[in-house]
Amino acid sequence: MPGDNGNETLRIGVYVCHCGSNIAGVIPPAEVAEFALTLPGVVRATDTLYACADSGQNLIKEEIVKYNLNRVVVSACSPRMHEPTFRAAVAEVGLNPFLMEMANIREQCTWAHGHDPEGAMDKARDLTASAVAKARFLVPLDMIKVPVTKRAMVIGGGVAGISAALDLGDQGIETILVEKQPTIGGTMAQLNKTFPTMDCSI
Ligand code: SF4
Repeated sequence: MPGDNGNETLRIGVYVCHCGSNIAGVIPPAEVAEFALTLPGVVRATDTLYACADSGQNLIKEEIVKYNLNRVVVSACSPRMHEPTFRAAVAEVGLNPFLMEMANIREQCTWAHGHDPEGAMDKARDLTASAVAKARFLVPLDMIKVPVTKRAMVIGGGVAGISAALDLGDQGIETILVEKQPTIGGTMAQLNKTFPTMDCSI
């Protein structure tokens, strides 16, 4: 059945963000939500002004409870930006955080295709449909902790390598800096002065 995932009947909620004019200035988020309602498993879809604001997160949380949602899709910005925000929000009302999926209709859509609103709208529908399709196959995951040995090796003793090794050392991590040359400092060590202070380079 299109609305099922194994023994579970899917109840997907889709939230389409305006992000001020970032998204809503190019495409109508309400129409993306209207489209999302036609997708298999979607029982609720709406637009929201700022999904990551408290008001937006509260809307999602309230509706997970109200509509008994078991998957959430947020059509908004890059997951790099707010995936942790929405994972935490859905977890607050008892939904496994890995049952939340994002569609990037800002960076990959309205920002990239602002000159072509029709094309941007088509892509927003496609990206949202893809995220919904993926959400249908998501399964709950548990976070695990794995013991690791806090020891690092930095390869290359140029300025970047030295800096990385010092940063790791400052964090209390035993660090080994490996350099194939007999001295460290890389190209920097070959300069006798550096601009603008004209200090010795090392
Ligand atoms: S969730 Fe992303 S797209 Fe929506 S308002 Fe926040 S930053 Fe903008």
